Amino acid sequence: MKYAVVTGSSSGIGLAIARKLINEGYFVFINGRNDCVPDLAEGKYMFINADVSSMNGMEKLVSSVLCKTDKIDCLVLNAGTTCRKKMSEITFEDWIYVMNTNVNIPFFIVQKFFPHINKDGNILFIGSAMGLKPHATSLPYGVSKTAVNALAQGLVKETAPRKIRVNSLCPGFVDTEWQREKPQWLREKIISKTALKRFATPEEIADMCVKIIDNSYINGAVVSIDGGYDME
Ligand code: NAD
Repeated sequence: MKYAVVTGSSSGIGLAIARKLINEGYFVFINGRNDCVPDLAEGKYMFINADVSSMNGMEKLVSSVLCKTDKIDCLVLNAGTTCRKKMSEITFEDWIYVMNTNVNIPFFIVQKFFPHINKDGNILFIGSAMGLKPHATSLPYGVSKTAVNALAQGLVKETAPRKIRVNSLCPGFVDTEWQREKPQWLREKIISKTALKRFATPEEIADMCVKIIDNSYINGAVVSIDGGYDME
């Protein structure tokens, strides 16, 4: 049995990744902040209710997984948050919350799981196009996602002796709750600036995750998947 952990996977991109990994034969630890367990094949997953924006939540996630298995094959750091305030309105707490959720706690999740990741295993971060080129008013989010890419690449030297690959996948605009909150005019503007004239589906992002996990030579890569945003 292969084991995968996907943070923030009770909906959206994380849930699509969890579904694909289950189809690939993994037992998946699904994580969310509520007790809403997604409708998935019984016996193929375990839901862990833990808020991974804090060290306490991180420890709850790690200990719950390690109660079931002491070896994992794949760790996907997907949980993320944003803050769309103007620079002048961003508080210290706003800034820290985004950094904790998107980059600080993911680092400690990696640190805790690392001794338990099998040789030839995978660590995959879900970054963002905002981490490659700022295109919106989500300042701490963009900074955190740039740091995620640096973290993925910076870890490679440490993970290399055990042939564990580390990568970051950077989606553009994906049709999840995250984007549905945006007003219609903004959604239309995004679509008009995207060469493929639509948002990605969560399944298209999950499909690329599985390709990265399955490809035995991709390592230290920052992979963009944005439908050709801002290229027309
Ligand atoms: P979403 O809001 O649809 O789903 C997020 C999931 O993460 C939910 O299940 C939520 O419960 C969980 N989650 C959030 N914070 C959590 C926390 N602190 N602890 C535990 N679970 C938590 O979001 P999404 O669009 O699926 O985004 C997932 C990831 O993809 C994020 O890292 C986001 O930055 C990234 N991303 C999304 C888009 C997009 O357009 N949707 C684009 C680029 C990158």
